[in-house]
Amino acid sequence: MNRRRFLTQTGLGLLAASAGTAGRSAGSKSEPGRGPLIVSTWGFGKASNDAALKVLVRGDSILDAVEQGIWVTESDAGNSSVGLAGNPNAAGVVQLDACIMNGPNHKAGSVCALEGIRHPISAARRVMEKTRHVMLVGEGAKMFALEEGLESVGGDSSGLHTQWHKQRMSQQSRESARKPTGHDTLALLVLGANGDIAGGCSTSGLGGKLPGRVGDSPIIGSGLDVDNAVGAAGATGLGENVMRYCASFLIVEFMRQGMAPHEACMQVIRRILSSEPKGANLSINFVALDKQGRYGAAGTDRGFQYSVTMPESSRVLPNPANGKL
Ligand code: ASP
Repeated sequence: MNRRRFLTQTGLGLLAASAGTAGRSAGSKSEPGRGPLIVSTWGFGKASNDAALKVLVRGDSILDAVEQGIWVTESDAGNSSVGLAGNPNAAGVVQLDACIMNGPNHKAGSVCALEGIRHPISAARRVMEKTRHVMLVGEGAKMFALEEGLESVGGDSSGLHTQWHKQRMSQQSRESARKPTGHDTLALLVLGANGDIAGGCSTSGLGGKLPGRVGDSPIIGSGLDVDNAVGAAGATGLGENVMRYCASFLIVEFMRQGMAPHEACMQVIRRILSSEPKGANLSINFVALDKQGRYGAAGTDRGFQYSVTMPESSRVLPNPANGKL
């Protein structure tokens, strides 16, 4: 085994960023604090990135940028995978997952299976800032969001749950529970001008999921991880294939060992692929940025795109892993 291959497989050593990373300081030594830089999953992340940049430019915090950036996609009535316009679960109810993480104090907040709240990312931020906890789920998360005065939408879903429960054993509903429909997540990472890092995730999860199912997105270390000394990573895809590997945490750890963001994303995909049946369609896609202002992404979905925004440009980029896995 040659040295480069050894370093790649073990995750040790400094690896130069490969094509697709396109970081402005890719592969080079640079001073920390090359923000503002915002990186998010999917083409629809661009509108959120642009909003987040405006927040930073007017001098507000990186957490405000994450929260208000994500509001844009959560409010988009045309988006069927983030916010209340998202795909419903098998009972016909939209259950939302979100989390937020702040690099400087390594705090996090998260909500799972939250119903009827316009901005789950704001509920997650309030969990982080106003409670002793990190994660609230279901009815408790909703009660907390309402107590906090967050905007609620829609009525009582208990009728839908009861109806679904009655039909549950029918052939038709067994089939529909087995067949997930669309899904995507907005994972948005922010590097501030002073080098501080924050991130957030928001999703309606897997369409047709069992009521109560929670994916990777609100789980710290799986759908999102932020380490203020290193960088941040976020995920989108089939949560079941991300959360079993703590994938975002692993990307950050690979960056800590010296990998550029793109290479760290690729390395985690290779690691996961090596443990899964060959040819499995895993649907795992990642974005990452580091303290030096480098960014990258990689995914197993050919159509995966990511959005990168800085003061001088805001772009939607193709999946750099296409043809390389
Ligand atoms: N990761 C999300 C989930 O499994 C869905 C997605 O990003 O596509 O809930």
